Amino acid sequence: MVKVLVAAPIHKDALKLLRDAGFEVMIREYPGEDELIELIKGVNALIVRSKPLVTRKVIEIADKLKVIGRAGVGLDNIDLEAAKEKGITVYNVPGAPTQSVAELAIGLMLAVLRKIAYADRSMRLGRWIKKECLGHELYGKTLGVIGMGRIGRAVARIARLGFGMKIIYYDIIRCPREIEDQLEAKYLDLETVLREADVVTIHVPLTPETRHLINEKRLKLMKPTAIIINTSRGGVIDTDALVKALKEGWIAGAGLDVFEEEPLPENHPLTKLDNVVLTPHIGANTIEAQERAGIEIAKKIIGFFKGK
Ligand code: NAD
Repeated sequence: MVKVLVAAPIHKDALKLLRDAGFEVMIREYPGEDELIELIKGVNALIVRSKPLVTRKVIEIADKLKVIGRAGVGLDNIDLEAAKEKGITVYNVPGAPTQSVAELAIGLMLAVLRKIAYADRSMRLGRWIKKECLGHELYGKTLGVIGMGRIGRAVARIARLGFGMKIIYYDIIRCPREIEDQLEAKYLDLETVLREADVVTIHVPLTPETRHLINEKRLKLMKPTAIIINTSRGGVIDTDALVKALKEGWIAGAGLDVFEEEPLPENHPLTKLDNVVLTPHIGANTIEAQERAGIEIAKKIIGFFKGK
């Protein structure tokens, strides 16, 4: 019988799928390394989320492990090199959070342009600041998408169809013509996207090439009325440069779900700025995304053992 160790909370329907497939399911939430070393013996499949850490030591001790499933996207907690050396297959489910992250990006755009968070803070202090809350519509504005992959395309689709925005984008790989036609999206170089967009939204992975892709020089290209949204990874923007840009009015605002340092330190300069909306890396944090992630990873693991 296939033995699965579920080492992080996953959706109940995912557990049911595994059990219905005839697998023995053992649940232990976020074990530490020592505990995982004990638990992993005799286990054929391991399911994790961003935790626990699956270290080389754990992988080397695992005598029957064939597959590791990450119910989510990032694989930073798994020693991939060690897994490869032992011929262990590693799965993730990169499409599971797409819609959730895209919807948060749109939410941040609205929150910044309509000053929703700022207005809410003021109301709670008994201040009725209607005049200060003069905002902007998304309708008819130009959206600059940096990174037109799964999430970038989902944001562009909502922005185009739901808000009548014009779409321009930059990516190292140009989208197929039919996607460009569907989204009425124009492919441009990065600098032109930054110059022309009213809203810039970032959806590239963090790599050596994208670290500080948005730096002081590039922030200075943006319109003073433009806003920037980042739901990708904090390191893609040079935070010091962004703080300067927001303080000195090179750009009008920012909506940020990800940070160079997480959790964002208390009293960080970003927390002092009213033209910024901050969320604690909640892009994928929805019931639906977690349900999809759990079910998709369970299906991949079942497929692995049942040869589908
Ligand atoms: P994806 O792989 O589908 O798309 C990424 C796109 O970036 C691709 O089209 C790729 O060609 C492009 N790209 C890569 N390097 C580039 C470069 N140097 N310059 C320009 N373009 C480049 O990924 P996705 O699923 O759309 O995810 C996008 C980002 O969202 C990732 O950074 C991911 O870590 C992040 N994310 C955040 C959350 C959250 O909770 N906020 C959740 C899931 C994913």
